Amino acid sequence: MQGFNKYYPPDYDGEKHGSLNAYRGKHALGDRARKIDQGILIVRFELPFNIWCGTCNNHIGMGVRYNAEKKKIGNYYSTPIYSFRCKCHLCDGWFEIQTDPKNTRYVVTSGARQKDEEWDPEENGGFAIHDTDPNGGPVDPLAALEKSTDAQNHMNQVQIPRLEELQMLSDHYSVDPYMRSKKVRQRFRTEKKLDQARRAADDTLKSTYALPEELALTVESEDSRAEAHKHWEKERLALEVREKAKRRMVGRPPETAPTASSRPSLLHKKLSAGPPGSAISSLRARILENTARHASSSLGGIGPHRTKVLGNKDIVFRKT
Ligand SMILES: [Zn+2]
Repeated sequence: MQGFNKYYPPDYDGEKHGSLNAYRGKHALGDRARKIDQGILIVRFELPFNIWCGTCNNHIGMGVRYNAEKKKIGNYYSTPIYSFRCKCHLCDGWFEIQTDPKNTRYVVTSGARQKDEEWDPEENGGFAIHDTDPNGGPVDPLAALEKSTDAQNHMNQVQIPRLEELQMLSDHYSVDPYMRSKKVRQRFRTEKKLDQARRAADDTLKSTYALPEELALTVESEDSRAEAHKHWEKERLALEVREKAKRRMVGRPPETAPTASSRPSLLHKKLSAGPPGSAISSLRARILENTARHASSSLGGIGPHRTKVLGNKDIVFRKT
């Protein structure tokens, strides 16, 4: 039995010897490494399948364990292939089993026979395992020729034109970056100028009519203009009808003073016909409006109704 404590002899020098194993000339794995100079390590190996010993012809069951000599005998790509050499426990014969990384299996190479108990899916109504060996099977020369011709045709008719198209497209887009940048920036400047002009016009309108700063005005177009005009016409007709009714009740002819019915049209004329951004015209419109209001309120009976009418006129006309 190996001791649990380590004895360091008086002449042991860590710098010189490195380790106690090196000092005593022993391997760290002890007796299991007694054939390490031949590249063999003794490991415990368990039979992965049932075998028959080639020497005594006895059946040895799966799972029986041996002290096998493990040795690296080659590589499959970068994966090492190991062989395990075991001595039969019923006779003096030896058998050898190797790993098979290609098929992820073990194979018996000598000294025994493997009992064939592999599951064959094809035999049991399943699908055959796909053969991954590219060199396996007979090669049909005509099929190979056809395949290569197809590939050549595909290359000529599809891939090369496609590549040329891509190259042309790339040339088209990267031929003159300065010109393209210039064009884009020019367009941006134009749009920015238009946007600024529109904003200035909106601000003027808002300040003229004391509209709230955050009020968003719609972008003016033929449709919006026509709609606004239609709305205004409707309101004006309704107002005229009401005015006429009032006057009939009061018993006064409709042609007196600048009436309220003429006022919206006047205001509208000022709004629609005035030059854009003209503060004078809007001021004039406001003065006329005030004059009209004073005149009508001094005549009496119309004041409160007209304020109502003004309240009804809730649409904002943009200057054109
Ligand atoms: Zn045997």
